[in-house]
Amino acid sequence: MGQVRVLLSVAGLAVLCACGGLHYPTSGTDPNSSSPLVTQGVTASVTSKDLSARNAGSAYAAGKLIALTFDDGPRPYVLFGSKGGHVAPGLVDVLEQNGVKATFFVVGWRLTPKTWGEPRHEEDIGMTCIDAAEQLTKRGHELEDHTYSHMELRSAEKKMGEPWVTHDVDRGAQAIKAITGTQPRYLRPPDWMITSDARRELQHHGYHVLTISSENPMALRDVNSLDYLCAGKNPTGCPRPSLVDGVLKQVEQREKRGVYTHILAFHELTSTATVMPRLITDLKARGYRFVTLAEYMDMVASKADQPVKQQAAGKGHIRVAALSR
Ligand SMILES: [Zn+2]
Repeated sequence: MGQVRVLLSVAGLAVLCACGGLHYPTSGTDPNSSSPLVTQGVTASVTSKDLSARNAGSAYAAGKLIALTFDDGPRPYVLFGSKGGHVAPGLVDVLEQNGVKATFFVVGWRLTPKTWGEPRHEEDIGMTCIDAAEQLTKRGHELEDHTYSHMELRSAEKKMGEPWVTHDVDRGAQAIKAITGTQPRYLRPPDWMITSDARRELQHHGYHVLTISSENPMALRDVNSLDYLCAGKNPTGCPRPSLVDGVLKQVEQREKRGVYTHILAFHELTSTATVMPRLITDLKARGYRFVTLAEYMDMVASKADQPVKQQAAGKGHIRVAALSR
């Protein structure tokens, strides 16, 4: 992470992430440029017809939904298991064993030929990031856009201008489309940092920008798992008593406010993959069903948007597509 930013509020919850945090060990250098990078999804297309057929008579139509998302990959050693000193289960196997399809916000520079990840911090298991991305797609997971460079976009815009930001996002999308054949629809900016102008511009380009902004209905705000604070040798900032408990607590707090659908934001980290079996089991036990982000948005977005529309009466029509205000 060239630039370490300490943006975390001590009070902690809703506040920032993420990939550039002190404890987050994954940074790299763009193989195609000398700029330092702070590292980091094909939308399975589900027609409304498919969904209504699937939802007919199903409790899940109006029920509890989780969209599991993972940023910063593809990281083959996390997805397919470490072969080195500490043998760890692969996230892909964990998801498969639990019948869960997830959404991966991937970083475009990784999807260039002969890229195995960030060599200083990431184990090479003999699989390129492109191979890993192809495997994710084949197994029914979604790939969405986390930019090409993984630069923090607000600072980048200051230095290089808004067209650079748009280009970086488009370049990430092209790298994904080259693998999946499908244009990504969703963008999660690194650390959720982006200017309003750039966000609006990207929306004009057709992207739905994910956010943690309280200006959005809760169901459409990412839940920051804080999993990046649980990685590394000294995870002092990790939620207590555990990452899983921390996430469940956030889910409970949202439930108390009547929200039963959640987009959970994690990262491709071995420490995160390790706790996924328990988290998935616990959430299933609470009645949650796991869907991809595209499925989630198809089912949740129109309903969740209602309160905003009401609040904004007289200010013009607000679509959920504008996830990013
Ligand atoms: Zn990231």
